[in-house]
Amino acid sequence: MKITPLVRQAAEILDTPFLALDLNYVENNYKSLKNSINNVDVYYAVKANSHTKILSLLKDLGSSFDAASKGEIDKLLSLGVDPNNISFGNTIKKESDIKYAWENGITMFAVDSEMEVEKIARNAPGAKVYGRISTSSNDADWPLSDKFGTDVDHVISILEYAHRKGLSAYGVSFHVGSQSYNKYKWKEAILNASEVFEKLALKGIHLKLLNLGGGMPVQHVKPIPEVKEIGEVINESIKEYLYWVDGLKVITEPGRSMVGNAGIMASRVLLRSRKGTKTWVYLDVGVFHGLMETIENFRYEVVVDRKENHETMEMTLAGPSCDSVDTIYDEVELPVDVGYNDVVYFMNTGAYTIEYASPHFNGITPPEVFTIEELQEAVDKKLAIMAQQ
Ligand SMILES: *Cc1c(COP(=O)(O)O)cnc(C)c1O
Repeated sequence: MKITPLVRQAAEILDTPFLALDLNYVENNYKSLKNSINNVDVYYAVKANSHTKILSLLKDLGSSFDAASKGEIDKLLSLGVDPNNISFGNTIKKESDIKYAWENGITMFAVDSEMEVEKIARNAPGAKVYGRISTSSNDADWPLSDKFGTDVDHVISILEYAHRKGLSAYGVSFHVGSQSYNKYKWKEAILNASEVFEKLALKGIHLKLLNLGGGMPVQHVKPIPEVKEIGEVINESIKEYLYWVDGLKVITEPGRSMVGNAGIMASRVLLRSRKGTKTWVYLDVGVFHGLMETIENFRYEVVVDRKENHETMEMTLAGPSCDSVDTIYDEVELPVDVGYNDVVYFMNTGAYTIEYASPHFNGITPPEVFTIEELQEAVDKKLAIMAQQ
């Protein structure tokens, strides 16, 4: 999302920090993903950004959803999402949440362990389960590998166990790691998934679901493969490794790539100070209030309005709270004259920002969230007040 004249005007006259969301990007992202992978059903990963208007828009476009907890399920159901279009994709579920999901019509659950199979068999008899295989998340900025999924042989035995327990062994999932730069990771994972399909077919268990997970990247500071290119690799890999599966159902669970480029965070400089050889710039937004991913040095494009080719220097960028972890970047290039009250933008911050923001740490509130329409209203209101003064 670009710094539009509206965003710039809002940053000048409204309180910061705020996150502006342009839902047109979400709609375009959804459509281009649907067009890039053959016959794919999209299950939006709610955790990336659970803004009601994003969920409603995606529902209206025909999207399904990947939920991780009772809270996310309740939010989706309250918006009128059909439970048949919700997958309970967390492999670490509360038993009472499994029961609740099943009673409310959700029939699809992720597993990567025998114990999770037992919890589902106890509370959702006959449910469809898919086993998550692990991937190596090198090539991704935000790994989701070690904690989730297990090896191919283990997934096979978990799904066999589910079958014996009266569940429907339904398919295989994986996640190549979030913000993945390597399109061939999907190929490798589909090949691994096909081994599970094949070995279980030999035992008379016929899987139907291939769940491609998330992982597609958003443009930040490094070049990324386009959704279309990743889609081509996926289409070819499915044709090569899974052509023989009758009635294969392919789903994907994008989070970041649905909403990342739909957001822009505007903040302000509260303080600039020199410490030894380093220059520190402190903002009104930080790690605990929206920029959580920067703790793993996840790089957003940081913009301060200056003329092109304005001189820059390396500075340290930090948030406002009384905690040293609240340091955004140890080294980032900023205009040499960046100073008090300057507006600092974090580009393409629609995913995994506001969701992580603490509502009360240090008594600092999270950035206010505006859709473009809401931002226009807020600006108009503020201008009216200013005119009266
Ligand atoms: C977080 C998550 C996703 C979304 O991943 P992105 O990299 O944001 O696309 C998809 N599936 C599962 C199970 C997840 O936990």
